[in-house]
Amino acid sequence: MAFNADEQTENYLFKIVLVGDSAVGKSNLLARFARDEFYPNSKSTIGVEFQTQKMEINGKEIKAQIWDTAGQERFRAVTSAYYRGAVGALLVYDISRRQTFESIGRWLNELQTHSDMNVITMLVGNKSDLKDAREVSTAQGRALAEEQGLFFIETSALDSSNVFAAFQTVIREIYGVLSRKVM
Ligand code: GDP
Repeated sequence: MAFNADEQTENYLFKIVLVGDSAVGKSNLLARFARDEFYPNSKSTIGVEFQTQKMEINGKEIKAQIWDTAGQERFRAVTSAYYRGAVGALLVYDISRRQTFESIGRWLNELQTHSDMNVITMLVGNKSDLKDAREVSTAQGRALAEEQGLFFIETSALDSSNVFAAFQTVIREIYGVLSRKVM
């Protein structure tokens, strides 16, 4: 199960998936969040399968198990096992490549098809540091998020901007929703 509330110790484990086109920065967002690292010339192969990150909310220990596609999406074949049990998702595009933004609808569809519950989803416009190369405005990103009922943030794995906020918002929202259900 992706969500386990252990009543004795009150520990929680959430599965969160990173989704989006190849090279939008998924692996680097996870590397920045989990290890505060960045890879300037990474190929899509650096991704680990998942990384577990601890957080404390209201005195309870939350473990976020964050999954990276590790390049599977290049072959248009992210397996249904990848999505199974996910309670949160970061749907990532690259603000400097319009095509990656146009793919979001397809990724959202795939996420909704394969996941077995209502997944708390954040639309993430990554590479906000590439200001001169921007092809998707902040307003366009926000509009899509509002239309689809998603949270929205722009990040840079390169300069760290908003990376922690992106993951933490998703984790806090999941905790909020699920703890109300369980308690
Ligand atoms: P993935 O295929 O979606 O996992 O993307 P990667 O994390 O492998 O990143 C693809 C390329 O984009 C790499 O060369 C990264 O160094 C670069 N990259 C990732 N995030 C950022 C960012 O926020 N800003 C800039 N300028 N480059 C980034």
